[in-house]
Amino acid sequence: MLIKYINLSQQLPASLLTSLQTVKGFDEKTFTAVHASGAQVTSVRINPGKKNELSGTQLAESLEPVPWSSDGYYLPERPSFTADPLFHAGAYYVQEASSMFLEEALKQSCDLSGALRVLDLCAAPGGKSTLIQSVLSEDSLLVSNEVIKTRVGILSENITKWGAVNVVVTNNDPRDFQKLPGYFDVIVVDAPCSGSGLFRKDPAAISEWSAANVQLCTQRQERILADIFSSLKPGGILIYSTCSYSYEEDESICDFVVSSLSATSLRYQLKPEWNIVETTAARSGAFGYRFYPDRLKGEGFFIAGFRKQGDEEITQAYSFKNKNQLSRATKDELEAIKKVIADVSRFSFLKWQENILAFPASLQDDLFLLQANLYIKKAGVSVGTVIKAELIPDHELAMTGLLSADVPYYNADKETALQYLRRHDIKCDTAAKGWTLLRYNNIALGWIKVLSNRINNYYPKDWRILNK
Ligand code: SAM
Repeated sequence: MLIKYINLSQQLPASLLTSLQTVKGFDEKTFTAVHASGAQVTSVRINPGKKNELSGTQLAESLEPVPWSSDGYYLPERPSFTADPLFHAGAYYVQEASSMFLEEALKQSCDLSGALRVLDLCAAPGGKSTLIQSVLSEDSLLVSNEVIKTRVGILSENITKWGAVNVVVTNNDPRDFQKLPGYFDVIVVDAPCSGSGLFRKDPAAISEWSAANVQLCTQRQERILADIFSSLKPGGILIYSTCSYSYEEDESICDFVVSSLSATSLRYQLKPEWNIVETTAARSGAFGYRFYPDRLKGEGFFIAGFRKQGDEEITQAYSFKNKNQLSRATKDELEAIKKVIADVSRFSFLKWQENILAFPASLQDDLFLLQANLYIKKAGVSVGTVIKAELIPDHELAMTGLLSADVPYYNADKETALQYLRRHDIKCDTAAKGWTLLRYNNIALGWIKVLSNRINNYYPKDWRILNK
């Protein structure tokens, strides 16, 4: 056993281990042992919007819950998620357990029953965004932003699969949000970091780690926070997290937030059995929460919450000027939509390029404001296009709970479901005609069109399963 420790401690960067000696909760022996063990922890978070349909599946069986999460569960082993149609249906998200603590941080920071405007600033691929969306009220707005263009596609895909209507996906630099001063009630910054917390899951990252990169990440983290802070309203909540163990990227950043951005630190209640380590930053005394894989079932993670000082509402004159403001769907288009969507009263139906999108009516002005100031990649749910009084439904609509019970569906077996997800031809023994939902375990995977002599598969080409 000892030999194993020695071997691994040679693999883990020596300068990282040295730098952590004085950090609270760090125990070099157990830390290196847990990395050496090769043990892997797999966890998923179930989509509360699709939970009712999961009875009878493996996910409904007695799995061990993630202690700080309402819908998080550990799996006994890592299955092939690609081969599980429920994964593609957005029935759950594969998420590392420690980061699910964001739910607890949000619950302890603000009243989630109200209508909140929340920004997830560094959002791709969407783990935190799908979590945030699940704990917000229906009247709340989530802006899910990713600055790197090539990562916005996967973010949009995961938000679509989650079936959420109250999310806007944007592709902006943090400083672009300065056009929206005091707008957000909550901002989550899950910052790009040096990534040491994921060494156990991804040992290849060990060789890429360097102290110089930690310094670069620290500078970038400060810049991101300084750029975004003005868009948080006075009294609003900032939640900062990383998957790094480095003090410079964690507690030092808390010092920066408190001293340079005029925010006060929030202290969270922890259950002792969670084994999460509470730390305090040296200069400001700000609280932070450390997750070590040798102390709990999860990867390395750090999170801290802050309240922006001041409690006055900013009455801000936001710029709505926008030549391309979205127009409303016509009466005839609405008639076609009503045949497919159960309750249209809660939504605004707006023209978006060739499509019509559904967006919560109570948030329509927010969408116009965001459209005037940011680059929007996706807003609400694309419903489809109306041609000759018939709605040609979009895939996004299939993923939501908005559909009327009259929409025909076919419950496929697993092999047919996988053939559908590969975008192959499928056979269904159904009397349905026309646009039909293909479901697996009562959860929609997408649309098929049943014609007299064949079935057309409308699963999105870019998302199809490529392996056999
Ligand atoms: N929150 C995501 C989740 O839970 O799935 C993971 C986010 S990852 C830790 C950090 C993200 O920040 C990446 O998607 C990365 O592209 C983005 N990022 C990189 N540089 C950035 C910058 N300068 N400003 C804002 N975000 C940045």
